[in-house]
Parts: sequence; C-alpha cells; structure tokens
Amino acid sequence: MGTHHVVLIPGDGIGPSIAEAVKRILAAAEVAVEWHEHAAGVSALAKGKDVMPEETLEAIEHYKVALKGPCSTPVGEGFRSVNVALRKKLNLYAAVRPVRSIPGVTTRFENVDIIIVRENTEGLYSGVENEVIPGVVMSMKVATEEACRRIAHWAFRFATLRRRHKITAMHKANIMKLTDGLFIKCARDAHRTEYPNIEYEELIIDAGCMKIVQDPTRFDILLLENLYGDVMSDLCAGLVGGLGVVPGANFGDQAAVFEAVHGSAPDIVGKGIANPLALLMSAVMMLEHLGATKDDAKTLAQAAQIRTAYESALAEGKKTRDLGGELGTDQFTDAVIERLRS
Ligand code: NAD
Repeated sequence: MGTHHVVLIPGDGIGPSIAEAVKRILAAAEVAVEWHEHAAGVSALAKGKDVMPEETLEAIEHYKVALKGPCSTPVGEGFRSVNVALRKKLNLYAAVRPVRSIPGVTTRFENVDIIIVRENTEGLYSGVENEVIPGVVMSMKVATEEACRRIAHWAFRFATLRRRHKITAMHKANIMKLTDGLFIKCARDAHRTEYPNIEYEELIIDAGCMKIVQDPTRFDILLLENLYGDVMSDLCAGLVGGLGVVPGANFGDQAAVFEAVHGSAPDIVGKGIANPLALLMSAVMMLEHLGATKDDAKTLAQAAQIRTAYESALAEGKKTRDLGGELGTDQFTDAVIERLRS
C-alpha cells in the first residue's frame, strides 16, 4: 500500500501543539502518511490570507482527506466561518461523532458506544430567516428529499460497513409533519428497500433524550437532522467525559475532514497542558476511513494499535489535567508512544 496524502490544518491556539503531538504518535506507529500543511483561521489571517484560504480548500479537494485542528473565529464582522466555508465548498453533508466510554475516564455510565450521524446542510441551519413585520421574525426549517435520502443512505451504508446493528432516527414528526416527516420517510425507505440487514427504530426526540440519559447503552447509531444532531452530540459527549474525549468527522462524497470537537482553547495556549486526545482520536477515525476505503489492512491495524496505546495509557492514569491527571501535552504524547513500542 502506498503513502497516504493528508492535508493538515494545525489551526489556531492549542491547534499547532496538539497537531504536533498527533504527528509524533502517527510517526511512532510508522503510519505511511505524508502531511500537506495548510493554514486556516486566525493564523491564515495573520499571513494576509482569507480565514479559509482557497489554496487550503483546493488541497483538500485534491487529496480528499484532511485532519483539522481547531480554528478561532475572528472577532468582527465580515469574516466567513471556517467551518461553514469548508462544509459548503466540499459539500460535507454527513457529520459523524462517535461517543464511547473510555477506560480511566470515570463517568456515570460504562460501555457507551454510540455513533451520531447528523445531516449537516439544511434544517434550521439553512440560514433562511426574515422579519415578517417589525417584532415578528421567522426562521425556515428546510428539508429536501435529496438531502434526507442522501443522509439516510449514507447512515445505513456506514452502519453496514462498520458492522453496526441498529439505527435509531429521532424526530418530531408528530409536530413538524412535513419536514421531520420527510426525514423519517426517507430513513424508512432506505431501510426497507436497501438495508433490511440493519435494525431500524424511530423515537420522538424528547422521549429519545430521556431514554438516552437513562440508559445510553441501548443505542447504537443515531440518525438526526441538523439541529437535533448538534444538541444530541453535546448531550452524548457529556455521557462519556465531555468534548475533550470526543472526535469528529465531516464526510461528503468527494472528501472527508476529521477534527476534534473542542475549540482553540485560548486560555491555555503556550502552557503545555493541552490535551491532544480528541485530535488523536479524530486521526484514528481518519486512518480507519483510509484503511476501509483503500482496503488497506495495515493502516486499519495501525489505527487499532494507536487506540490500544492511548486507552492503556488512560487506564493506567496517564492523563492530562482536563481529565483529572497531571501530565502535560508532551508527557501524555510520550506515554502513548511508549505503549506503542511495548
Ligand atoms: P474551547 O473548546 O476552545 O474551550 C473551552 C474550555 O475547554 C477552555 O477552558 C479550554 O481551555 C478547554 N479545552 C478545550 N480543548 C482543550 C484541550 N484539548 N485540552 C485541554 N483543555 C481544553 O471553546 P471556546 O473557548 O468557546 O472557543 C475558543 C475558540 O475556539 C473560539 O474562537 C471558537 O470560535 C473556536 N472554536 C473552534 C472550533 C473548531 O474549529 N472546530 C470549535 C469550537 C470553538
């Protein structure tokens, strides 16, 4: 198998230091990856470029895969959002967030293993808002058959490839009969016509929230429209220890961008205490994607080795401060590398 070419966006704030940690760990695992580094965010602005430079977007279009550090949102009007620009240009319509219990990170629940699949392009995030008359404003929830079908098929295909067993679609179609109604109709159709191999259930979102905090272990994959997916992602992150231990990925048909969910943490920049775990977990997801799409068993095995290494470090109490440990960025990185070599 050849070298994987990956665009690396170190990003802002703690981004460059956690990106460096991830590069060190992948190098120690001998993953054949060539990084193509490009700027985005405030660090791109500082170089006189746009927050999302065209050359960065073109590099992702070319190489198809990117690992992205957090980017600060510049203060002031007139700047486009890095994430919105990425999502629109590359049509990254499926946001995926795996939420798993991690050894050594104690929370109320054990054995949580949920993957959230969120439609990333429409719903209430379509940006169609207007003032009807002074004092009355309106925001449009948009659902198209094309996008609902696309995300439903994507989720079932993903479930099949990853050997998952069940998809739960959460909705409010009892109230939003047309928009959420279309969303679940497309999910039902995908299940019935092409993916009867995957168990499928529907829950009204409010009841779903209650059930998920009562017993998250009964869920496997959640399929959600944009706003519900956004809210449910953070709710589920809270079940396993917070945003610092949750990776993320945004998939389109042509490209995929992997990133930690947390931001650039300006309050701890330069202190050497940033936790690289979420970006590392995102990099492991990226290797699993590269391994699966290129049928590359070696890369899949390396992804598994890195996961085992960070899990055993955490289980032995080798943690950064945000997780209740004492290690700095470099020490945690060294602890993972030591376990890769043992
Ligand atoms: P944040 O996630 O950066 O920080 C919230 C708190 O968590 C801070 O106390 C921070 O120190 C801590 N924290 C976050 N990541 C950590 C890590 N890896 N290790 C240790 N501690 C960590 O959220 P914020 O302060 O609201 O946002 C800061 C900047 O990041 C803003 O400009 C925001 O727009 C941006 N942001 C970017 C992304 C992205 O690029 N995907 C996501 C969220 C926020």
